[in-house]
Amino acid sequence: SNLRPESARLYEEAQRHIVGGVNSPSRSFKAVGGGAPVFMQRAEGAYFWDVDGNRYLDYLAAFGPIITGHAHPHVTSAIVRAAQNGTLYGTPTEGEVTLARMLKEAIPSLDKVRFVNSGTEAVMTTIRVARAATGRNKIVKFAGCYHGHSDLVLVAAGSGPSTLGIPDSAGIPVSIASEVITVPFNDTEGLRLALEAWGDDVAAVMIEPIVGNFGMVMPKSGFLEDVCRMTRAAGALVIYDEVITAFRFHYGTTQTYAAAFADFAAIEPDLTALGKIIGGGLPIGAYGGRAEIMAQVAPLGPAYQAGTMAGNPASIAAGIACLEVLREPGVYARMEALGTRLADGLRESAERHGVPLTVNRIAGAISTHFCDHPVTNYDEAQDTDGERFAAFFREMLSRGIYLAPSKYEAWFLTTAHTDADIDRTLEAAEESFKSIR
Ligand code: PMP
Repeated sequence: SNLRPESARLYEEAQRHIVGGVNSPSRSFKAVGGGAPVFMQRAEGAYFWDVDGNRYLDYLAAFGPIITGHAHPHVTSAIVRAAQNGTLYGTPTEGEVTLARMLKEAIPSLDKVRFVNSGTEAVMTTIRVARAATGRNKIVKFAGCYHGHSDLVLVAAGSGPSTLGIPDSAGIPVSIASEVITVPFNDTEGLRLALEAWGDDVAAVMIEPIVGNFGMVMPKSGFLEDVCRMTRAAGALVIYDEVITAFRFHYGTTQTYAAAFADFAAIEPDLTALGKIIGGGLPIGAYGGRAEIMAQVAPLGPAYQAGTMAGNPASIAAGIACLEVLREPGVYARMEALGTRLADGLRESAERHGVPLTVNRIAGAISTHFCDHPVTNYDEAQDTDGERFAAFFREMLSRGIYLAPSKYEAWFLTTAHTDADIDRTLEAAEESFKSIR
């Protein structure tokens, strides 16, 4: 675009050196009409600035990790201090113990944790541990849930791959895909049938207990209880993938968040995968769970998992600092209040212009589907009008509002967003709905 000549120039060059010009397909603008993605240069609070000097209000939050706003002073100074003391030792450090203790205090189902470098690694390893613990091979997952890019969970995955119209990935052997059973989210009967057919071979049922990857979708009342009860009856383990949900809605995970409407003990997972927010914007992942299951992991047990970069001091320091900010009273209530204003305002604005729009909101995270019915599973989410989203995305971008370039992705509030930011967003949305109706 002529407003972004430097982004266009960099994209030209990037494509010569980097496959597709981007280091993650979800950053490309392929799903929103193509062309150069915006190359950002710096960020502070709820805003970032591109290489052409344009300013944007950020709802991407880097796909989830940025919850304290960009360059939060408490997080930044923790990273600087860590870097000044050396970036990597290959030995244990005290910070790892501190962050592990903080995670355990917030997430009761964690007896033991292990830090890794990404959500993908965390999920991948929970599957290995579940297989080691049960001596079984198959995995059940839910349609449209995204669990990173390892072989087993890229089968019928949502998020990036489905946005790009690739239901699956090349390079995954059919023999591996055949170990995965996919069931619709919120479908107890579907899970019952799957476990009836294959239950004796199932090592684990993997779930985003609150979905963040085809929109923000809550489990229906009783669904998580059903998942846990039926999975255990089949002798399999329950794995919650909370990479995107942990510390997003409150100081904890779905397990603790859902305790408000469900029996806490009845929805406790055996293993949990974590990432994103717990690293305060630096690379991290973690997994953990019941002590006797985690005892499968080397050096205690026979399931091998390792990492040169795992638990690196800068990520650990950023994670601790980020959680310290989130522990302050009132932090989540403020994000929720802003999220409520945003969701209500978008619904009203879309309705004024006759644009069908379903807005799901969970605390300070919302999703928008351009369709005229509720979204409770992946089938319903897929009814969203991708071309209309693309047009809306472009209109918002031209007004300085940065959304994820994907029709299913959430909009995330941070502690840096203000009421004035919501006003600005709703004004931009009003004009955008008007022009795309
Ligand atoms: N699980 C979930 C639920 C996710 O949302 C993501 C990332 N969007 C992942 C796993 C993979 O995490 P990472 O990108 O850090 O590998």
